[in-house]
Amino acid sequence: MVNQTRNGFVTRNDLNYFLTELKEQEPWLYSYHSKMLQMISTQIDGAQKSLIQLRKNGYAAKSLKFARYSKYRTFTYNQSGFKIQNGFLYLSKIGKIKIIQHRQIPENSKIKQVIITKSKSGKWYACITCNIETDVPKINLSKAVGIDVGIKTFAYDSDGHRIPNQLNLKKMLKPLARAQRKISRRKKGSNNRLKAIKHMQRIHERIKNRRKDFLHKLSTQYAKKYDRIFMEKLEKLNMVKNHHLARNILDSGWEIFSYMVAYKTTMIEVPARNTTIDCSRCGNKVPKSLAVRIHRCNVCNLVIDRDYNASINILKRGLSIFNISAKADYLLPQELREVTPVEISMRSLKQEEAINLFGGSSLKDSRKV
Ligand SMILES: [Zn+2]
Repeated sequence: MVNQTRNGFVTRNDLNYFLTELKEQEPWLYSYHSKMLQMISTQIDGAQKSLIQLRKNGYAAKSLKFARYSKYRTFTYNQSGFKIQNGFLYLSKIGKIKIIQHRQIPENSKIKQVIITKSKSGKWYACITCNIETDVPKINLSKAVGIDVGIKTFAYDSDGHRIPNQLNLKKMLKPLARAQRKISRRKKGSNNRLKAIKHMQRIHERIKNRRKDFLHKLSTQYAKKYDRIFMEKLEKLNMVKNHHLARNILDSGWEIFSYMVAYKTTMIEVPARNTTIDCSRCGNKVPKSLAVRIHRCNVCNLVIDRDYNASINILKRGLSIFNISAKADYLLPQELREVTPVEISMRSLKQEEAINLFGGSSLKDSRKV
């Protein structure tokens, strides 16, 4: 093996040099595309660098491990050795493969890289990276929104949209448990057990895909509609400690959602402290347990959904970063309108817009509470 150098690590160039030597001893390596093998050196190099970075940041990161054969499911063609034509992907040393192309490759773009992955359930995917030149759009602050993510509802925004939770895992829990039982009944090492494991992995993949689909659609809607999106900085670690909530939180995918929003548009995180407690109209503190779903302020008489109140607070905090004070037009829970003397400002035009944006249903929901 190569002598380990700096910090006990080997560089990419060392690895590539070693690779050419290794090829002399192991001629079967010639049946692989040379650039593809070199990309493995790049991967190891990258992994080492992030390991060093993690240690610098104070994490107790241990050493790199060898990827087991069964866990090694990805390889990369970089810059050369591939072509896409007439529904086929051509890979050097492998041949032509029929593909289902989900998106057209934009004109005037150059394919930089193709990453081939085999999913756990045995499906093959090719992820294609292209180089496209575009103009950066101008951003103004006219359309800003605050989003509060929660347990009962997935998200509530400061324009009054309630996005119900998509508890994928809950729905799929029964088939998952069934698949799990099947595995435990089968003999270890048997072919039937392997089949059952594959079946379970397919269910897991389906859950993952549904969640991702939901999060992508939602984040794209927000990115299209608003220029700036404010969200709370999630104290995820604290929340997962509460066991009742744990599964829901892990399933909700807020972290992925905020990541998606952040790369699709401008997302700014605001401190989460007291967003549910503060009254969004007068600033009075109204402490409430998780079971209390409605914010009732005894100073200014504001009565709205707790998550809606939080989302307005988030918007206000976000805009205050830009020295803008927000004026909220409150949408009230319908049942509470007669009993509570609260002003409702005119927002007919905005409401219409809102109904169009999320198909109407979510706005209706927002009043049910
Ligand atoms: Zn108040």
